[in-house]
Amino acid sequence: MKAKVKSKKEKGKQNASDFAIGVDLGGTNLRIAAVDERGKLREKITTETRVARPRDEVIAEMCLAIQALATKLKHAGGKLAGVGVGVPGIIDLASGMLRESPNLPGWEDYPVRQEIERRLGTRVLLENDANAAALGEKWLGAGRKVDDLCMLTLGTGVGGGIVLGGRIWHGMTGMAGELGHIMVEPEGPECGCGSRGCLEQFASAKAIERMAREAIAGRNAPAPALARVAAKRGFSSQTVCQLAESGDRTAQEIFGRVGRALGIVLADLINTFNLPMYVIGGGVAEAWEMFSPTMLEEVRKRSFVYVATSSHPAGGKTVIARAQLGSDAGLFGAARLAFLREETEVHASARKPRRR
Ligand SMILES: [Zn+2]
Repeated sequence: MKAKVKSKKEKGKQNASDFAIGVDLGGTNLRIAAVDERGKLREKITTETRVARPRDEVIAEMCLAIQALATKLKHAGGKLAGVGVGVPGIIDLASGMLRESPNLPGWEDYPVRQEIERRLGTRVLLENDANAAALGEKWLGAGRKVDDLCMLTLGTGVGGGIVLGGRIWHGMTGMAGELGHIMVEPEGPECGCGSRGCLEQFASAKAIERMAREAIAGRNAPAPALARVAAKRGFSSQTVCQLAESGDRTAQEIFGRVGRALGIVLADLINTFNLPMYVIGGGVAEAWEMFSPTMLEEVRKRSFVYVATSSHPAGGKTVIARAQLGSDAGLFGAARLAFLREETEVHASARKPRRR
């Protein structure tokens, strides 16, 4: 698989002055970056556009910013390879429709790709934001040296992405890789997806906040430190993490639950895929020191594939790593989509019989 990807690359006509534009619609604000074929960041813009505003305004402002950036780099002698957009939610790849998005209310069944293409007059690649982040980490981050990886993005929710042979694995319609909804506790808390006890209910920022509230309300084991923090300044997953770092037992137990849930899911993924690398990113991954010991202990207990590969005589060790690109992973991944498409097209046209 490696050789195949390389040969596609060699046949591509890209060079360092080519650039692609990656867009991240997943955060609070709209972010746009121009990246060259080697992964060098040419320019990054964080706009004032809050993505929670009406969709037409967001799309219009996004397209203006993309056009301004593209024009600037074209004047500097660059060639635009394409535009990739990472969007939170469930995407239908064939139609470029956003089917559902908890972060973008009012965007359901909105033809996002078509709208952007119409305004820009160029082809656009739409991708789920967690898939884009996984591709970004594969290209330039923790996964640079492997061809295949799985990534979990622990943010407000839990996103997932599977990269095989350097490309996102989409499944039938583009909805594969919803790893945040792998079930950890069959009768656990209700999840927004309709199921119960999903990973997202234990390893997201929202879940950490919920578990902290539950601890404060718990009758058997009061949580005075958490209650004090909550009364004083409210709390976020970061404040719970700070408490855990300062030695608060209740906060540490919460991160123990985070680690256990992650370990259960990673063990399943490792046993299923036997990939060389599993990457953990997103804001909650900042608390790595607090949850990773339990996570790794759980993986060792539950995954015989992990244990077997850790003593593999010819290398082939399963690596569980922290993401390296922070919130830029999705931007780089979105840009990478455009280069990958170009490589595929050049490759496909090279295979076509010549016309006489
Ligand atoms: Zn779920």
